[in-house]
Amino acid sequence: MTDNDQDIPSNATIRQEYVKCGNPDCQNSHGPYLYAYWKQDKKLEKRYVGKNFEAFRLRQIAKEIKIKPSQYMKFKFLEEQANKGNVLAKQYLEKLRNEQVSIDWAHRVLINNNQHNW
Ligand SMILES: [Zn+2]
Repeated sequence: MTDNDQDIPSNATIRQEYVKCGNPDCQNSHGPYLYAYWKQDKKLEKRYVGKNFEAFRLRQIAKEIKIKPSQYMKFKFLEEQANKGNVLAKQYLEKLRNEQVSIDWAHRVLINNNQHNW
């Protein structure tokens, strides 16, 4: 998690943008880079969030469910499993969002399940 993400609200709009190069010898645009846009006190706020949307989305979910940095690898494992179509992992991610299970518990069950069934 980066400090940069701290005050980006979860309903911010994420846009991909190409940026004109600051180097006068270079006529190119670079990117795409991701920027978050949101309204705050009637002002439009903009913040650079990186190059990788998937990584940004993961950090946002982790923030929402208050994952500690030490638990982030477990969280990432869960997300990877869910993306591979693991139904159990999908259920646990949902339960994590609703604070029905802990990340440590969900991770342990998934590991055991992988060893026994796959
Ligand atoms: Zn350039």
